[in-house]
Amino acid sequence: MSSEPRDPFSPGSVARQLDYCTFCPKMCRHACPVSTASGRETYIPQAKMDRLNQLRLGRGGWTAESTDPLWACTGCRHCTMYCDHDNEPGLVLFSGRAVAQQHGVTHPALASYSERFRTREQRLTEQVRTQFAGHLATSGEIGFWPGCDAIDKDTGDIAATLAVFERVGLADVQIVDAPQACAGYPLLAAGHRDLFRWHAGRVAASLRGFRKVAINCSACLYAVRAQYPAEGVNLRTEIVSLADLLAPAAGSLACPVEKRSVYYHDPCYHARYNGVLEQPRRALAQLVEVRELGWSRSDTECCGGGGLLPKTMPLVADQMAKRRLAEVQAAGGGMVVTSCATCTFMLKRNAPASVEVANLATAMAQLSETAFTVPAPAGDDDV
Ligand code: SF4
Ligand code: SF4
Repeated sequence: MSSEPRDPFSPGSVARQLDYCTFCPKMCRHACPVSTASGRETYIPQAKMDRLNQLRLGRGGWTAESTDPLWACTGCRHCTMYCDHDNEPGLVLFSGRAVAQQHGVTHPALASYSERFRTREQRLTEQVRTQFAGHLATSGEIGFWPGCDAIDKDTGDIAATLAVFERVGLADVQIVDAPQACAGYPLLAAGHRDLFRWHAGRVAASLRGFRKVAINCSACLYAVRAQYPAEGVNLRTEIVSLADLLAPAAGSLACPVEKRSVYYHDPCYHARYNGVLEQPRRALAQLVEVRELGWSRSDTECCGGGGLLPKTMPLVADQMAKRRLAEVQAAGGGMVVTSCATCTFMLKRNAPASVEVANLATAMAQLSETAFTVPAPAGDDDV
């Protein structure tokens, strides 16, 4: 791989990548979990890039049907791992979604998405303020921003995180009290780049009171670190993953006499964009023997949660999560821990009876017998 710095979203770079992929002998086809799970040749990276290239060159109209393959991508970057040209089909396909939006075309499942995103933000912000009153702050040394999926799908993970903070000497870390629940990755994945830029500016203002903020969503960590600067949004706050915060503190937790073994699933955005590989393993290793899945670290396989795939192709997304857990099931079951709220949700909802899925903080709380109370559920699951 070359180390040449480049912006995969720039028009010149997009055109070059599309041309390379169009004439490629499909070298990365095995790496795409969407085409593998769906069994559809039109969803291999080369075919998706070729489709976007034909649309770019004006060889076909921008319609819901012609743009369908653009939505068959989680942005997981696995194809890039096997590309001699360092091409970025995930990012380029997302840029194609933005062009589709400019042509007035979106995926049918994403109709009125910007309004739905705003409504969901308001609902989740109110929910976290109600369920975690007394644990909120607008400024401080370190803040914790749970992320929209944690609030929407399982606030037990947030409660567990606060309990672990208390136990490891991080009791001063409070939940960021902001009018935004999400850093905006879904807007990027939906092709709403203008709205994403506007949203990023508001998030930057909300986080300004903290020196450092830990977030529990791998895709939004990528969005904040890589796409905020690309959109000209300067964030003075340092943004880290929750695993970054927990790893050095985990040594304060009581170590079980007998360590059980636990699998770790690398979220693809953490593994291939954010460089979050060792931190969650270090945090877990204090309490368990960490077992590796067949596809792990920078070669991890996506759980199906990225790129809004659970909205646009829910059956394929679920099939990807099932594939991810099949290895554990075949080995007799066990516990799978991950470090992203979206991955946790996707894996949990597709786990067979023999497989228990837990987010990192919840696993740390359970394994160290740190008590926490799960708030009563609220809301729906529109993403
Ligand atoms: S990403 Fe690379 S390997 Fe995959 S189709 Fe494009 S040029 Fe070929
Ligand atoms: S980024 Fe992931 S989902 Fe998208 S084309 Fe590449 S391998 Fe497939």
